[in-house]
Amino acid sequence: MLRAARLARRGFTLVEIMIVVLIIGILLGIAVPSWMKIRQTTRIKACHENLRLVDNAKQQWAMDQGKEATDVADSTELAPEYIKEFPTCPEGGVYTIGPHSTPSSCSIHGQVP
Ligand SMILES: [Zn+2]
Repeated sequence: MLRAARLARRGFTLVEIMIVVLIIGILLGIAVPSWMKIRQTTRIKACHENLRLVDNAKQQWAMDQGKEATDVADSTELAPEYIKEFPTCPEGGVYTIGPHSTPSSCSIHGQVP
């Protein structure tokens, strides 16, 4: 009983705290880079999904309006009639709509692969 009370009062030694901090550091060193990679991949996928929506809206616009392959749609012509709201790149890239015969692209993430 006396021994247990003495141990409970003692708390952690410096070495024990250093080992815990080291383990937490190792876990963060593993988790943070993979989390950053997942975050980047998600943003690229979201951007390419936006470009697919823009391309679909562009095709619909061209069909409805009877446009030529070289005609370029403006974002105000596509939204809100063919796309509810013109999307923006999650990382702030600028979308180039281009003629409806070519795929749209992002200044950061390029075209949909
Ligand atoms: Zn983008």
